[in-house]
Amino acid sequence: MEKDCIFCQIIEGTKPASFVFEGDRVVAFKDANPSAPVHILLVPKKHIRSINDLTEGDQPLMAELFMLAKKIAQEQGIAQSGYKLVINVERGGGQYVFHLHLHLVGGW
Ligand code: AMP
Ligand code: ZN
Repeated sequence: MEKDCIFCQIIEGTKPASFVFEGDRVVAFKDANPSAPVHILLVPKKHIRSINDLTEGDQPLMAELFMLAKKIAQEQGIAQSGYKLVINVERGGGQYVFHLHLHLVGGW
């Protein structure tokens, strides 16, 4: 938990979000400023700044994140029509919230 991190605050429940999933290690909530009809953020509960900060021990966590993306895409009804999974890395890669997250976008 990083007290100045907006995603940590959402995970702690001190900032509101529209959750679609909450597990022991990962949460998913709707993006506040969606860029597609379906735009969900999948976020590890552990505060990891970006992909650059992953360690060997985070492998199961990242696998869980991608498996959850598949499940949520099915639940949202966009698995067959198709979707994008995007991770922006650091400022030059378009990352603005420095708590690792996976964008699930689709529904066009
Ligand atoms: P990125 O550019 O990859 O860091 O993406 C950050 C995403 O977080 C953007 O798509 C924002 O719209 C979204 N976002 C920022 N603040 C919130 C919030 N409080 N609740 C939900 N989504 C948010
Ligand atoms: Zn955080």
